[in-house]
Amino acid sequence: MLELLHRIVQEVNAAPDLSEALLVIVQRVKQAIEADVCSVYLTDFEQRKHVLMATQGLRQEAVGKVSLPLNRGLIGLVSERAEPINVADAPAHPRYLFNTDTGEVTYRGFLGVPIIQNRRVLGVLVVRQVSPREFGDDEVTFLFTLAAQLAGAITHAQASGALDTILESRDLSARFLQGQPGASGVAVGTVVVAYRKADLGVVPDRASEDPEEEIAGFRKAVANVEEDLRRLRGRLEQDLPAGDRALFDALLLMLGNDTLVSETIDRIGQGQWVQSALRDTIEEHARVFDNMEDVYLRERASDIRDLGRRILTYLQSDATTETDYPPGSILVGDDLSALELAEVPSRRLGAVISTTGSRSSHLAILARAMGVPAVMGVADLPVGRMEGREVIVDGYNGRVYVSPQPSVRNEYLRLAREERELSDELQLLRGLPSETTDGHLLPLFVNIGLMSEMNNQGAGEAAGVGLYRTELPFMVRDRFPGEETQVQIYRKVLETFAPRPVALRTLDIGGDKPLPYFPVNESNPFLGWRGIRISLDHPEIFLTQLRAMLRAAIGLENLQILLPMISAVGQVDESLLLLQRAHDELLEEGHGVVMPKTGVMIEVPSAVYQAEALARRVDFLSIGSNDLTQYLLAVDRNNARVAELYDDMHPAVLQAMMQVVEGAEVYKRPVSVCGEMAGNPLAVLLLLGMGVVSLSMSAGSLLKVKWVIRSFSRARARQLLQFALRMEDAAQVRRFLEGSLDEMGLGGLIRPGK
Ligand code: PEP
Ligand code: MG
Repeated sequence: MLELLHRIVQEVNAAPDLSEALLVIVQRVKQAIEADVCSVYLTDFEQRKHVLMATQGLRQEAVGKVSLPLNRGLIGLVSERAEPINVADAPAHPRYLFNTDTGEVTYRGFLGVPIIQNRRVLGVLVVRQVSPREFGDDEVTFLFTLAAQLAGAITHAQASGALDTILESRDLSARFLQGQPGASGVAVGTVVVAYRKADLGVVPDRASEDPEEEIAGFRKAVANVEEDLRRLRGRLEQDLPAGDRALFDALLLMLGNDTLVSETIDRIGQGQWVQSALRDTIEEHARVFDNMEDVYLRERASDIRDLGRRILTYLQSDATTETDYPPGSILVGDDLSALELAEVPSRRLGAVISTTGSRSSHLAILARAMGVPAVMGVADLPVGRMEGREVIVDGYNGRVYVSPQPSVRNEYLRLAREERELSDELQLLRGLPSETTDGHLLPLFVNIGLMSEMNNQGAGEAAGVGLYRTELPFMVRDRFPGEETQVQIYRKVLETFAPRPVALRTLDIGGDKPLPYFPVNESNPFLGWRGIRISLDHPEIFLTQLRAMLRAAIGLENLQILLPMISAVGQVDESLLLLQRAHDELLEEGHGVVMPKTGVMIEVPSAVYQAEALARRVDFLSIGSNDLTQYLLAVDRNNARVAELYDDMHPAVLQAMMQVVEGAEVYKRPVSVCGEMAGNPLAVLLLLGMGVVSLSMSAGSLLKVKWVIRSFSRARARQLLQFALRMEDAAQVRRFLEGSLDEMGLGGLIRPGK
């Protein structure tokens, strides 16, 4: 059964569009259950009805035409209850509705299961039998399991088709795709799709620029792959049993098989560029094998795809054209990494859209640092069809408008102009102190991690660097940077900001920041080997980094060292011992180093409860609200599916932060906040009230936050905090703070326009 389920889901995933996908479902299910009819009804939420979208057994002409009001009949009952309904004799059921439009005879056996995604009933999958039949438990669970897996495929297929609907639709409200707000701001621009090399699945549609040249390049790539395979086969002749060697023969045969080559060339001839022509040919051939009964033959599908990848690798390494980024480029991708974002020349970058991730993913953080709007987790965006389209990105509301109508476009161009005006107004705050109306100073620091961020306008305004994420320079290399290299990197940032303090955070890899040359494969990476845990397990990596930091600060003395992911006091003690050792060794070697101030990041619940004990050991605490929120609420900061549950203004997070401030107070240690919360104009009011002594944020947020601070008194902020701490859910806290900002005329900081 599992095998069959798996195959059906695979076929559905491979279907080119929604109607094809649904057809596969009804055909396969009818056959598997030996029912007389299998149909899928999809919910039309606007028209409040269930529409027959595919059937095997009823009249085909009824498809798309026949519908039932939402709460009528047995279909309505399945949807209402959101659970399976299994009745042996349907006409005897009080909710039975006889429908002549579908050309029905009377069906007695009825089994309907809901298709649910994100708590919404997207539709109903039904099987029916002329004779009375109570479907067995096995059959119910089969259909049930299938429906659960199909929901994703259906929304995906719907989304692809939805693009056409969106483009045709006259209804403006239907013209945007919803994601999560990633970085504030609005932008109108042209999409450039970032796609991973040698991954056929993400090759975008494009037109061929020079068919002849592309065909020649393609033939060359095929010849190269052929040669590679021959060489590999020759090398393994002695070592591999004949059966396994046959794989190479099979692959060579497939390559030699003219259709693979000629079909790709035909497609190029018809106007497709070489990479998508290859993608489509490979997919078509692979799908034939996907559908085979025989497991061995089915495996050949992955061989064909592998062959495709090999050819693609050559095509891509041969491609001499660099990606062309028009001004105002909107970078779009499936699982965009911070590095891919960093590759775009910053003056050309208009905004970022990712189909995955959330506000607290590093991609969003980087977008904020660069001052560009970002929308995250737009799961329904058909990335492969987006290249070159005009889009509007609304980073405040998490919306993406594809090929917008002129009226919407003009509205957003106006908002973008207002944003620029707001930003001009903000410029007037440059050089003014970050001081409340009752004279309390709350210095603002910047978070940085990439060299390019240092040129960002905000950096000159900063009181220093509150968080320098050292992992980014590690991520852009192909091996661990040596001590000398690190000295240079750190020296540059320390020098740029001297005499202002710079907090260098020791390596925080793991979690969502893997190093390509140091793979850590874990099923639960955020609870696994990351941050200080890796550093302490690899003292050679840690000591090199500490030595480099100390040496980089010689003569500047503005270094502070920040320890990430501390969950127990022992980790601080050990780290400080290693720091002392690095310091003493360097002195012995004749370097004039001094011991820097040290701080602990409060990012996990245990550190909250032990704030006092941690504070005793170091000079300051810095709250990493991004991870603290993730670990307190048990919500993955990168998972779009649970992004609505991730909220750094959750009362539990606020209470935890209060506890940290109180714990540190015992030893008179200052507490700062360096998570994204510090750059959020709403949250700043609370942080000010809590008595944290400094904030560190993306450079792009600095002036906005300064505006908030200069508009409120500390006394007022304390009052607001007291109110907020009595609230029981995050939404209430947000609404309350939005009201407070609006009252002061600062609404432009949290929504599009001024
Ligand atoms: C945090 O967790 O709040 C933080 C500042 O660190 P990072 O975002 O780099 O994990
Ligand atoms: Mg963190």
